[in-house]
Amino acid sequence: MNIQIIAVGSELLTPYYQDSDSLYLTRGLNDLGLSVRTKIVIGDELESLAAAVRRSRDEADLILITGGLGPTGDDRTREAVSFVFGRPLVLQEDIVASIEERFRRRGRTMPPVNRKQAEILEGAEVLANPAGTAPGQWLDAGGKTVILLPGPPHELRAICESQVWPRLRSRQRAFLSRRVLKTAGLTESEIESLIDGMYPREQALDLTVLASPGQIELHVAAASDVSAADADQRSGALAAKLRERLGRAVFSENGADLETVVGRSLARKKKTIAVAESCSGGLLCRRLTGVPGSSAYFLEGFVTYSNAAKTARLNVPAETIETNGAVSAETAAAMADGVRKAAGADYGLAVTGIAGPSGGSEEKPVGLVFCAVSDGRRARVERSVFLGDRVRVQQQAAQKTLDFFRRLLEEDPEP
Ligand code: ATP
Ligand code: MG
Repeated sequence: MNIQIIAVGSELLTPYYQDSDSLYLTRGLNDLGLSVRTKIVIGDELESLAAAVRRSRDEADLILITGGLGPTGDDRTREAVSFVFGRPLVLQEDIVASIEERFRRRGRTMPPVNRKQAEILEGAEVLANPAGTAPGQWLDAGGKTVILLPGPPHELRAICESQVWPRLRSRQRAFLSRRVLKTAGLTESEIESLIDGMYPREQALDLTVLASPGQIELHVAAASDVSAADADQRSGALAAKLRERLGRAVFSENGADLETVVGRSLARKKKTIAVAESCSGGLLCRRLTGVPGSSAYFLEGFVTYSNAAKTARLNVPAETIETNGAVSAETAAAMADGVRKAAGADYGLAVTGIAGPSGGSEEKPVGLVFCAVSDGRRARVERSVFLGDRVRVQQQAAQKTLDFFRRLLEEDPEP
């Protein structure tokens, strides 16, 4: 099935607004085992909009159009589809009444321009909008389906969840099963060579590898005409093989983030942590505390940027920093130990590095990062060198520290 998305709005062609609607739609379609062939972002101008709709009509089986259903003169989606599909727009008084009612509930009167939002393509079904004024529209015409949806993301979601996804699902014959394996600690090329030859040849089984800084995800999707259990069994079999190849790099199979995996492990073991950050500037604490329930194990965090702060807050001996430098295995270990003691936590985590763009040297290049974990018996340290700009180095520093800790927690024999 050829599926196309048209995102309408001149604002989407500026650097200030992003077309996130099409990402939402793509995810929803993918969850139904459907993939998008083409995506277009187009301005509000009627002629180019009509040209885009015409092209999609000629090529696609299913067209989803978002935006341009508002009441103002630059909202032309209805007109463009009406023109291209040769379906006149019919004003529906019951929809006018429901829009009026919506205004009344907020103590206002509906401006006359909003009547336009009650214009429905002849033969289209109305998709009621629980979150706004413009209803969506669903038109089956000449073997093609066109779905018109409002641009505001919360309205789009409300209509898709209540009406679009259920309708598309009821048209589906296949059962689907999806799994997401998340990995840390391996590069994309390392993963590719480890799973070489494992890309499925069958049509109804799919493997996609998605990379972001410090994290590679493997998405497995299986479809079955027989049953949900059959689809599940087939996605599970491929996931199990991948897991076997990738070993400990896999940290979750149910979509959980690294910080959530670490948090669950701490909660289960009834252990606490404290964190000292330098180059990551609080990112690690932000991630750890973003997990609901993190107060059960996260005691406190420091951003000790200067040498003096490392000494004053964490009790890192000035001599350690002088001798080895602020970015060194020794300082990282002393920070981890120090923060653990200062907070009275079971574990201390620390990270220090050179985020750049300046401050690097031959011996200590930009991207050099030491992360450390202290458990009171000893501090373990890992050295890494990350590529990329300041933000990417910070992201990878936080990710690496979490992953280093996750692996140590897994080795810990305690329950
Ligand atoms: P309205 O009734 O609110 O006017 P509409 O269907 O006409 O709805 P637009 O006017 O095109 O929608 O867009 C309204 C707002 O919705 C935009 O200012 C923008 O913030 C958001 N929006 C529109 N399209 C998108 C998109 N593709 N991705 C993300 N946000 C979008
Ligand atoms: Mg608009």
